[in-house]
Parts: sequence; C-alpha cells; structure tokens
Amino acid sequence: QATHHVPVMILSGMSSMQDKVTAFELGAIDYVTKPFEFTELRVRLRSALRVHRLLTMLSSRAQLDGLTGLWNRTYFDGRMHQEVAEAMHHQRSLTLLMCDIDYFKRLNDRYGHPFGDLVIERMSKILQSGRTTDIACRYGGEEFGIILPNTSGPEAIEVADRYRRQFEAETWPGAETLKVTASFGVASVSHTGGPQTADELVAAADAALYRAKELGRNRVECTS
Ligand code: GH3
Ligand code: MG
Ligand code: MG
Repeated sequence: QATHHVPVMILSGMSSMQDKVTAFELGAIDYVTKPFEFTELRVRLRSALRVHRLLTMLSSRAQLDGLTGLWNRTYFDGRMHQEVAEAMHHQRSLTLLMCDIDYFKRLNDRYGHPFGDLVIERMSKILQSGRTTDIACRYGGEEFGIILPNTSGPEAIEVADRYRRQFEAETWPGAETLKVTASFGVASVSHTGGPQTADELVAAADAALYRAKELGRNRVECTS
C-alpha cells in the first residue's frame, strides 16, 4: 500500500527490552524512549531520512536499464501484474505494445555494436515521448514493452503506428541512406474472454508481433 515504504520511528514511554525488540521486529527503524533529548531525536531523524533516501535511490536504480534509462525487465514484470490486476478489477482498458527492431543482428554485424546501441537509444527516446502515464520498458536486447493504461486497442494501434513512422524517419550517422525499421504487436486486456492476466497479455502481444514479422516487418499487428 501507499504507506508501505514510509520509515517508522518509535517515540515511547515504554522502555523495556521486549518493547524495543517488538518495535524493531515490526519494522521500526529506530526507537527513542521518553524522556528524550530533542537534539538527539533530530540527528536520529536525519540519519533515518538519509538511509531512506539511499534505499529509494538504490531500488529505483536496480529497476532501470543502464543503456537507455527505460525501466528494465524486472520492473516490467512487476508493473504488468499490477496494471493488469487493476484494469481487470476496475473494468478499465489496458493495452500492451511489444516492439522489436527489424534485422537488428545484421545492423550490428555491418555497422558495429556501438551503432546498434545508438539505434536502441533512439528507439527508447521515441518510446518515452508518449503520455506521461505510459510505461516504456526495455524487455530484452532490441525488444521493448510499452504498457498503456486506460488505452483501448484502436487507440494503441495509432500510438504504435506513430512510433513506427517516427523511427523509420530517423537518419543515421555514417549511413545516410540507411533505413532502420521496427515491428509492433498490440494486445489489450479483455473483460470477455481474451487476455486476463499479465502472462496472457504478453503472450498475445508477442503473437501479434510475430505476425508483424511474418507479414514483412515495419508494421503494427494486433490480436483480433
Ligand atoms: P528480426 O527482424 O526478426 O527481429 O531480426 P533480428 O536480427 O532483429 O532478430 P534477433 O532477435 O535474431 O537479433 C537480435 C540481436 O540483437 C542479437 C544480439 O546480437 C543483438 N543485441 C542484443 N542486445 C544488444 C545491445 O544491447 N546492443 C547491441 N548493439 N546489440 C544487441
Ligand atoms: Mg528480437
Ligand atoms: Mg529484431
């Protein structure tokens, strides 16, 4: 819940060893007994906040992808479960875009890995340019998952196609005539028989992406 990460410090008139042990076992980060020195309380609070800030920073770093600054796969998995559960519960729409860069291996082989990395970074910039509520993640090497809360399938197809066209229009240093493209698979949660769990939604978007590849790449497909 929302207060789960709030650090709790106990200030109490009870000073037995058992009281303190119980407080720490329940998750308190500090225990100060009355009567107390205000100066001591203040430095203890400061120290608690310092540790809390560091922990927050560390845990968010651990969920970011180093190359692109997008959320990583670990975050994607957790967030998908949360978003799908909420959408199902409130009967809201939720759509997942899966994106995969076309013939990426060939690009790496021909222009080198630093170039491949640049391609991934450019795609990431484009995928981050949507609504602030959209959640763009790096799913794997040159694959991305973008979670669109409160977005229907047809709306998401528009979004994916805009990203696809933007990416196709990029020009590349040292390869002026090169066109790089990407394929997209789109799937939405369904309150009537389609995908209803995170795993089902990923599988459905993945199947759509596979079809986009089969039908010639540089296109958006959705599960019907
Ligand atoms: P398709 O059009 O079917 O998607 O073909 P593809 O070549 O893009 O597909 P495939 O999945 O076979 O190739 C992905 C390659 O991406 C494999 C790996 O060498 C490369 N790759 C994965 N992660 C990175 C990365 O972080 N940087 C770079 N430069 N290359 C990466
Ligand atoms: Mg791939
Ligand atoms: Mg690919």
